[in-house]
Amino acid sequence: MDPRLRFRLSLTIGLAVALAGALWALADGSASSRSVADPVTVKSASTIAMPPTAKSLPAVSLRTVAVADPCGQAAVKEALASGGDDAVVAAFGGGAAFRAAVATGNAPCIDLGDPVRDWLVVNKTRPLNPLAYAPASLSEPSLVVDDTAGPLRTDVAQALDALSAGADAAGVGTIALGSGYRSYDTQVQTYSGQVATYGQAKGDALSARPGHSEHQTGMAADVISCGGGCGTIDSFGGTPAGAWVAENGWRYGFIVRYVAGQTPITGYDAEPWHLRFIGVPLATAYHDGGFATLEQFFGLPAAPAYPG
Ligand SMILES: [Zn+2]
Repeated sequence: MDPRLRFRLSLTIGLAVALAGALWALADGSASSRSVADPVTVKSASTIAMPPTAKSLPAVSLRTVAVADPCGQAAVKEALASGGDDAVVAAFGGGAAFRAAVATGNAPCIDLGDPVRDWLVVNKTRPLNPLAYAPASLSEPSLVVDDTAGPLRTDVAQALDALSAGADAAGVGTIALGSGYRSYDTQVQTYSGQVATYGQAKGDALSARPGHSEHQTGMAADVISCGGGCGTIDSFGGTPAGAWVAENGWRYGFIVRYVAGQTPITGYDAEPWHLRFIGVPLATAYHDGGFATLEQFFGLPAAPAYPG
């Protein structure tokens, strides 16, 4: 409090007490204390209650209810050091809490650009770092369209096997990998092929530039439906398996990364076949929260085009 204000308040209270004492002394024994005190109370209240600092107290009090610093917690530090992504998310209090902390800037220890983490976001404005990144551990899932499908990050291949088994159990047939990991060099060929065929603008809408593809992380799977003969990547969205995956993929840690209506945010046309693994805890929060893009999920800006 301003010292001058404190002095003024003390002076006011002192004068009020003196005035009350004087009035009390003047009053006869039958006078009620209420009738004596009233003018004094009104005067002191009108002086004391008005300072703006007192008026703003409730708002200040609300704002100072501190949100815990998750990155400062021992459980989070330990989980980050041990490398288990699910454990990190759990230490934050689950997928929804993790998302909220990241999206509000309350998780500086979480790097959305770390290519080994389930929470990596790569898009047209967020290239991989390093640009020629390659995952350490790759394996083929049980079902692949042919030898050209390529592997996936080992844990993602296992998750795809579980997804396929789940689809089969639900009666929509199995799900096979059409295209998984693509190296930086492969992406150079894929992208330049699309650009050569369709031109720069359409090529950018159909294929990622090298160093900007989720396929380079081993966490993206273009899938096909194999209920009574396998279909193609392009036909997947119209199959029962395509509908089932859109509804249930999150249970196995997958999201459909590029959905209809989100091109202004993702920069890609809808690709019902392109699944991105983000782990079960985060995929659950993504599904429960009704999110349509990873950018939205983590509070990142839209990435409709390459910069420059
Ligand atoms: Zn894809």
